[in-house]
Amino acid sequence: MSRGFYLGCWCVALFCLHTACENASSQAPQHLTSAASGYAPASDKWTRAGLLPILGAPYPEQVPTPSMQARRTEAQHLALRHPGKVWINGHLQRKAVALTFDDGPESVVTPQVLDILARYQLKATFFFVGFMLRKHAAVVKRTYHEGHLILNHSYDHPSFDALSNAQIQSQLRRTEDLLFKLIGKRPALFRPPAGVIDNRIQAEIDAAGYQTILWSYDPFDWAGLPVDTLVQRVVSQARNGEIILLHSRLHTDSTAVALPRIIEGLQARGFELLRLDELIPVQAYR
Ligand SMILES: [Zn+2]
Repeated sequence: MSRGFYLGCWCVALFCLHTACENASSQAPQHLTSAASGYAPASDKWTRAGLLPILGAPYPEQVPTPSMQARRTEAQHLALRHPGKVWINGHLQRKAVALTFDDGPESVVTPQVLDILARYQLKATFFFVGFMLRKHAAVVKRTYHEGHLILNHSYDHPSFDALSNAQIQSQLRRTEDLLFKLIGKRPALFRPPAGVIDNRIQAEIDAAGYQTILWSYDPFDWAGLPVDTLVQRVVSQARNGEIILLHSRLHTDSTAVALPRIIEGLQARGFELLRLDELIPVQAYR
């Protein structure tokens, strides 16, 4: 799969910027209107295979680009080829979703997200970047001790299609070792930066002992969209088994601001909000 599969993640000085995430809006395109009931169209081939169509569109364009859609389709094929190793969503029969937060830790937005989750007595899932772990060790330990999952999101967030196999292994191992020193756990789940993945990358992830976690819905929370739009996107979009991509890092201010309304909106629609290891049958740690 080519670079920037979902353009979901972020970029700081040392990083290449991910160019996009994904989602819906107050001017919901047709596919999101049909999904507002919580179900994808029954005729969809992915749904028949137990996979949700991956949705979300850039803001303010509102529709995925053709290249983005092609990358999503390729991701679905990869999930079909590697059942139990590449995850896009959870069980379609359970009215539950998982909120996942990428690109932390840092000391502003991540603690805000943790405060909100504590207020609502919810456990969620964080994909942390290795090079930030030591600098924000207290945030890492807090996240773990408050019952959230801390999973591997690479060491410094490169696009994996530009790395050698040895470099991929290094990205996974360095972050894993640092996390083990802080929380005494080695994650078993990995989310590739920006969702960039192909057969070769997946083989390396598998060889390192990880399962791959992608997502089924990307609201583009990092893209500076208005809080009302972010809330509307996530709440109206949610389908059974949805894995929702959000971010807990600097410059995604709208995410923490929107989060209480996202939680309340999803719960008002009857959704449970679960950790990834509750939504899908995986072990978070080894
Ligand atoms: Zn990321």
